[in-house]
Amino acid sequence: MPEGHTLHRLADELRTTYVGRAVTSSSPQGRFAAEAARIDGHVLDGAEAWGKHLFVSFADVPEQAHVHLGLYGTFVISPGVDRPVVGQVRWRLEAGSTADLRGANTCELLTPPEVDARIARLGPDPLRADADPDRAWHRIHRSTTPIAALLMDQAVLGGVGNVYRAEVLFRNEVAPMTAGRRVTHKRWNAMWADLVDLMRDGVRTGRIDTVRPEHEPEAMGRPPRADDHGGEVYVYRREGQACLVCGMPVRRRVLAGRNLFWCPTCQHRG
Ligand SMILES: [Zn+2]
Repeated sequence: MPEGHTLHRLADELRTTYVGRAVTSSSPQGRFAAEAARIDGHVLDGAEAWGKHLFVSFADVPEQAHVHLGLYGTFVISPGVDRPVVGQVRWRLEAGSTADLRGANTCELLTPPEVDARIARLGPDPLRADADPDRAWHRIHRSTTPIAALLMDQAVLGGVGNVYRAEVLFRNEVAPMTAGRRVTHKRWNAMWADLVDLMRDGVRTGRIDTVRPEHEPEAMGRPPRADDHGGEVYVYRREGQACLVCGMPVRRRVLAGRNLFWCPTCQHRG
C-alpha cells in the first residue's frame, strides 16, 4: 500500500504535467467511461493529496475526480499521447503526456459536498501545510487503542502507513502497544514533527529513509539494506535482525491484521 508521500508526489507530478492544459479524458477499460467523458476536453486546474486520497479538479466541471490507489493501484505518467493501452486502464488523461490509472481501489467523480465530506473523515495529514496535529491528538489522548494502531487509522492521521508508523515509534522510543491515552502531548508533538520531516523527505526522494546519519551503512561499516522496499530503516521488515542502536533482535507481531515491527529494548516509553 503506498504511503502518503507517494500520493503527494503523484499530485505534484500531475500538476506539473497538466495544470492549465485541456486534457483528453477516457476510460479504455470502460468502468469510468461516463465520468471520464464529463471531464474530456476540460482544463485540468488542480491535483491535491489528502492522506492516501487524490483529488483532481477541472475548469468548468463542478465534480472532482477522487482516486484511492488501495493495495495494487498505480497512476503512471509517460511521455507522449496515443500510446497503446496495456492492461486494464480505468482512467487515461492525455495532453502531451499520458497518465494511466490501473488497479485502483476507487476512481469516482464527487460533487463538492461529497469532496468535503470525504476530507472531513480524514485525520490531519503531516504533509499538508494546513494540517492541525491537535485534531489527531484529540482522538489519541482519549483512546485505549494502542498508539501503533491509532497511527495507521486514517480517521486519526492521514497518509501514515506501515513503514512510517513503525519507524516513527522507534525514533521516538515509544512502545507500540502503549494506549493512546498514555502518550503525553509533548511526546505526540515530537512524533508529529518527526513525521513531517520524514514524510517531506519521502516526497523529495521517492523512498522512505528513516535512519539518522550515525546509523547509515557507511557510518556503521555495514552493507546497505537489501529489501525491495528500498530505503534505510530501523525496524520495518527487519524481524530477527540486530537493532541498529542496541544490537538486540528486532521483533514482529500482527496488530489489526498488519505486521508491526519494533525493538523492545529501545522502545520503552509509555
Ligand atoms: Zn534497539
